[in-house]
Amino acid sequence: MPKLAVLTEFNTSVELQEFPLPEVSPGGALVDVALGGICGTDVHLRTGHLSVPLPIAMGHEGVGRIRTLGEGLTTDVEGEPLAVGDRVVWANNIPCGSCYECMVLKEPTLCKSRKIYGINRKATDAPHLQGGWAETISLEAGTTIIKLPDSVSFEEVITLGCAGPTAIHGVVENLNIEPGSIVAVQGAGPVGLASAMYAKAMGASQVIMLGGPTSRIEVALEIGAADAGIDMDTYPTAKERLAAFHEIAGHGADVVIECAGVPAAVAESIDLARPNAQVLILGQYTDHGPTPINPHLITKKQLKMFGSWGFAPSHYVKYVKSLPHLVKNHDLASILSVYHLEDVNEALADVASGKVTKGALRP
Ligand SMILES: [Zn+2]
Ligand SMILES: [Zn+2]
Repeated sequence: MPKLAVLTEFNTSVELQEFPLPEVSPGGALVDVALGGICGTDVHLRTGHLSVPLPIAMGHEGVGRIRTLGEGLTTDVEGEPLAVGDRVVWANNIPCGSCYECMVLKEPTLCKSRKIYGINRKATDAPHLQGGWAETISLEAGTTIIKLPDSVSFEEVITLGCAGPTAIHGVVENLNIEPGSIVAVQGAGPVGLASAMYAKAMGASQVIMLGGPTSRIEVALEIGAADAGIDMDTYPTAKERLAAFHEIAGHGADVVIECAGVPAAVAESIDLARPNAQVLILGQYTDHGPTPINPHLITKKQLKMFGSWGFAPSHYVKYVKSLPHLVKNHDLASILSVYHLEDVNEALADVASGKVTKGALRP
């Protein structure tokens, strides 16, 4: 019987439980998981910061090989023929398609009744195997399944498992990064790294990353995601970081991308921006409460400030299509630390403490 990592209570360890292999549903698929990614959201899930039903079938990032195809499922979302053994990734969420946000706003990321594998699927409900931290996952009809290009590995896909599509939505679709732009990226986690790589792909001449710990900034420089780094250990105060930034960037950043997730970073975003700049607040996924900012500067500098929430299946498709280009320029797999599924709690602890930049579980 396949194993699945389950969170039965908040603030406890994740348990491996066995469930019977389900029948494949029409239009769905069973996929043998090769890697299940660990995301910052998993750390927050465990602490009960998000309102989700227990027990959670864990793992909202995954890649694997088709084990069984359900009746009627013959191609991936782009019409590529699917066969048993094919390497695939799936978008973790299925928007309802019929609510106000889906139908009128046409913003499926804002859908309030999305099904999300690994986040709001209960392990006690059939077909149980509804998360990617498992030996096998059962995908239902309506899941966006994408066949992987031959030139990208499972490791490369999972390294930016959530961060890549999040950056496609926030950075690629919402920002206008002109060739020659100076881009400041706050935060050196996976979302910061992905945002920096896409900013470069869009033509930024200089990406300056601010964040910590120092080892993460070094990784960003090594893989060519950033051209310069300002780390929190050398420059512990906002004032010191701003001074160091202006030494490199002169009049300031044309575009600021906040991926730090710390409320106080937003005040710094405003300071880093040159007049008339674009400022994207992408990292505040968890509600850590209010923070003091000086709104006068937003008006005076004529800043264009906006937010972007997660990603929809379409962003996952674009992410996978962009990967052959990204992996040519950046050694994505070098960022990934792989753990055995049995060591799920050690892996979660290492991601929570920042010991590893990106972790994944191999069944
Ligand atoms: Zn995630
Ligand atoms: Zn909806």
